[in-house]
Amino acid sequence: MEEKMSSKELEDLYFMKAFGRDLKIVKGSGSYVWDENGKKYLDCVAGIAVCVTGHCNPEVVDAICNQAKELIHISNLYYVPNQGELAKKVVEMTGIKGARAFFSNSGAEANDGAIKLARIRTGRKNFVAFVDGFHGRTLGSLAVTHKPAIREPFDPLEPKCTFVRYGDLNALEKAVDENTAGVFVEGIQGEAGIVPAPEGFYEGVRKICDEKGALMICDEVQSGMGRTGKWFYYQHTGITPDIVSIAKGIASGLPMGAIVARDGLTFNPGEHGSTFAGGPILCAAALTTIKIIEENLPLISEKGKMFMDGLSAYSPRGMGLMIGIPAGDEERSHKIAEICRKNGVLVNCASHATIRIVPPLTISKEEIKEAVSVIDGAFKETA
Ligand SMILES: *Cc1c(COP(=O)(O)O)cnc(C)c1O
Repeated sequence: MEEKMSSKELEDLYFMKAFGRDLKIVKGSGSYVWDENGKKYLDCVAGIAVCVTGHCNPEVVDAICNQAKELIHISNLYYVPNQGELAKKVVEMTGIKGARAFFSNSGAEANDGAIKLARIRTGRKNFVAFVDGFHGRTLGSLAVTHKPAIREPFDPLEPKCTFVRYGDLNALEKAVDENTAGVFVEGIQGEAGIVPAPEGFYEGVRKICDEKGALMICDEVQSGMGRTGKWFYYQHTGITPDIVSIAKGIASGLPMGAIVARDGLTFNPGEHGSTFAGGPILCAAALTTIKIIEENLPLISEKGKMFMDGLSAYSPRGMGLMIGIPAGDEERSHKIAEICRKNGVLVNCASHATIRIVPPLTISKEEIKEAVSVIDGAFKETA
């Protein structure tokens, strides 16, 4: 008789080996998740900066269920319930006058949309992006993603992209030319290990883009949706981007992304589209997510400061609830994450041996104290 296999065993046998993982989470509520054995964790990973309203936020669950009972899918041949309302809201959040939004199914697809839009409206073909920058894994977004280990096996990729050192305006000046459609930039490099832009960097990128007629494309997939204490990172600077890409937190965990582009940068009929993107359930979830973030936005800097102050001995960097702590080397970084997990707190290891902390934006001060104490303990234990 065949024995019933666990879903872990089934994955090991039947699922492509694209991920290395061992923990199975089966339930979430607020800032906490539970594994298959009932062990509870305070989740400072939040689906990698996705579960911004906490796990299974009841208002979001209601919005999803109510919309699912009305209309699940209708296609782009017809107006989509709530899509106009969401587009207005997202455009207002960006603060870009006369802008328009377009929805996608992910961050990578948002950046693919930005690539297409920049190419078709500027008539130029090439891009410039930064060393250690991450913009996604579709063929287009991968072409502007730096990490050679994940990009080079898939060469040749389109579009042609030149990578310059993050923060280096002189190198950028040289790299951007009359064939550059756009410059992709993160204000805080997320996957690289929460690396904030140097002072004045965004203003410098803006100036070079203006001088050379290239579009400044701000990838806010990780830093956006309130994570840094404002809706988008660039709002801490003096500049306005030409295109903003958004995803991760926008719909509390449902697959959605967006681009917002300034006045005059729009797709015309037939130039872009997607079967599922911006569907009714996604729009309903996103509108409710935005309402909840709005309520939490004034508290985010203070919450971030609690992490920063509590862990100041270990040189944390970042902004708001997007925090990275250098662990020195990969071995210690993994050891720290493992000890935190054992003690009931989930954190994740980003590049450059960084402990990444990107909890739900709704995390409470009590929960932050609990997280800080466990993370502090893990740094001490591995010192
Ligand atoms: C996660 C991420 C992406 C890719 O988003 P997906 O939804 O995984 O395609 C792009 N840019 C940045 C900055 C990200 O953090």
